[in-house]
Amino acid sequence: MARCAFCDADFEAGPGDVLLVCPYCGTAQTTEGAKFTDHYMIRVHFDQSEAQTTLLDWVSKQLGAPEDLSAKARFLQYLQIWYPFWVSRVDAHSEYHGLGRDANFYDEWPQYRGAYKRIDFFWKPESGQFTRRHEIKIAGTIGIDEDIRQHPIPTRAKEFFSHAHAEEFDGKVLHSQLTKEQAKDGAEKIAFDKQTALIMDEVEKIESRSDNIDVGDTYLIHVPVWELEYRYGNSKYKASVAASTGYVIESKYPRTLAFRAMGVGFGILMLIIGGVLIALAQGLIGAAMYTGFGTVSGGILVVLGLVLFYKGVSRKEAKEQM
Ligand SMILES: [Zn+2]
Repeated sequence: MARCAFCDADFEAGPGDVLLVCPYCGTAQTTEGAKFTDHYMIRVHFDQSEAQTTLLDWVSKQLGAPEDLSAKARFLQYLQIWYPFWVSRVDAHSEYHGLGRDANFYDEWPQYRGAYKRIDFFWKPESGQFTRRHEIKIAGTIGIDEDIRQHPIPTRAKEFFSHAHAEEFDGKVLHSQLTKEQAKDGAEKIAFDKQTALIMDEVEKIESRSDNIDVGDTYLIHVPVWELEYRYGNSKYKASVAASTGYVIESKYPRTLAFRAMGVGFGILMLIIGGVLIALAQGLIGAAMYTGFGTVSGGILVVLGLVLFYKGVSRKEAKEQM
């Protein structure tokens, strides 16, 4: 339990919650009761029924979804959850010295242009510098679903957090389990990794580097997500839809029996073709050129076959992402 430093109400807060949002007055505050003002939100543009319609439209278009899904799905639960994210603007400057790969080419084949008899690879010193601005987003809740953690957030559309707006749809506003300082430390590490990836586009080995990483404006933003549950036939399915954009973050949905049977059929067919290709490659046909091709493509077909077979046989509901 915690007590709001601004309206004196008692409210629920777990031991890991370090930046709290009072569910009665909406004030964001530290556990010591200091007001936190860099607090934003993305407004809801899809109410509960619009989110449900968007979800069913999307699910109906998925491969193997039953045709009567939209008509027969019954929504059992809907919750609007406001997830906290920390967003930092990071300016990063990197200077690096490293080694790139280069090659000398000798003795071009007369009959094949661009093909050489001898190629000598060697390391070549390379260096450079560049500046990038990154916008780093870090989820404020630790056990957050991976799909929700990575879903796109239109930060340009942010507005100051409005308690009244979150209450309009009975939204549950989650506390943040990261402080602003922890979020900034995390943003600095992520920006460093992004700079590393950019350097590795230029060189294969980094010999030395120096980085100047400046974590600037960092704010807390609450993002509304509809968590829906519906029944179709005898099963229940869960889905998450972004309440600001209508983006289907994650959805489980039923597949028709015919579709699953088709998967099994294709799977078996591919297993057979793949097996035949491998057998051919391994000796029945002696052509050296063919060996590699047959084993590789046969192997791919066997793997595809097994995947389709598993998907078809599996009674688990499908889980697809956009
Ligand atoms: Zn309060």
